[in-house]
Amino acid sequence: MKDCAEKDKIDILSMFPEEIEQMLGNEPRFRAGQIFRWLSNGACFEEMTNIPSSLRQKLADTCVIRTPKIKKKLVSSIDGTIKYLLELCDGVCVEAVYMVYEHGNTLCVSSEVGCRMGCRFCASTKAGLLRNLTASEILGEVLAAEADTKTRISNIVMMGIGEPLDNFENTVRFLRLVSHPDGKNISLRHVSVSTCGIVPKIYELAELGLPITLSISLHASNNKARGEIMPINSAYPIEALMGACRDYFEVTGRRISFEYTLISGKNDSFEAADELAELLLRSMTAKDGTRQPVHVNLIPLNRVDGNAMSRPDKERVNAFQRRLCSRGVNATVRRRLGPDIDAACGQLRIRDAET
Ligand code: SAH
Repeated sequence: MKDCAEKDKIDILSMFPEEIEQMLGNEPRFRAGQIFRWLSNGACFEEMTNIPSSLRQKLADTCVIRTPKIKKKLVSSIDGTIKYLLELCDGVCVEAVYMVYEHGNTLCVSSEVGCRMGCRFCASTKAGLLRNLTASEILGEVLAAEADTKTRISNIVMMGIGEPLDNFENTVRFLRLVSHPDGKNISLRHVSVSTCGIVPKIYELAELGLPITLSISLHASNNKARGEIMPINSAYPIEALMGACRDYFEVTGRRISFEYTLISGKNDSFEAADELAELLLRSMTAKDGTRQPVHVNLIPLNRVDGNAMSRPDKERVNAFQRRLCSRGVNATVRRRLGPDIDAACGQLRIRDAET
């Protein structure tokens, strides 16, 4: 990690219009809105043609626009999915994945360089956490992908490298920036945030009332099994996590989705499916007996270099899904996009660092 280029300059892409206005001092009020709109469209200072050139020069002298550079790009010849390796101002890299769905163009973004959560099956956490991403760098992932694909991104999933709730402030700032009506204006209803289950932060997020979809990486149906693959479970065991999920739904009215990575021989038995169904149905029932809708996303494990864990075969995956459904839990198997450029999230970055 080298020093960030222009590290002493103001990180303007992380700023809301009111903050830009304050920074500009005596400029007319509408200038801040104009600049914010330009920034949200991926423009550099030079391109801000309705801003007087003296002000553009002043901005260029004092501020920096922290959009990552595309270092590598893998395009699937099967479904057009694109994996980006993005280089940040200090030379470190994160990944983003662009996917085309019927409901819109979706970008999976990273929130941290590395991760300190230590999930045993995950490539992103192998070398620990290097640093958080700024709000501008997360937003910059969206801008870089839009500029490269010449399309508009309408959906975002925070399921790339990092634990978004471990970088809480910048994640929330990013969510507010990307959904700002004068900016990208992406509806938060089209944004998912995935967490391994940092319980106090789930309560904090609920208080903010952002209409995002919260995804919980559950991956096991009891504390023993979960503790073996997710160290976070010793700090926040399943009961505490489920309590936070219930609260989240009660406060926000937004349904929670659960992710369950299927690992062969570890969490893919019918007993595990039954226990999972029982856990979710019990936990998601409120005191007055009303039950929240529960949805489980099954993710067959992506093999990570140097890790012995593997995915169950297709039949087992489908049988697990049917078993959950027969127990009253709605479950779907995540479609695998870009199988020809497959690299479990975080692997592209590791491989790049090794070459
Ligand atoms: N830190 C967040 C985002 C992580 S990535 C979280 O824990 O939710 C998004 C999802 O992919 C998580 O559910 C994560 O557990 C899962 N995942 C990570 N590595 C995987 C792998 N090798 N195969 C399948 N799913 C994986």
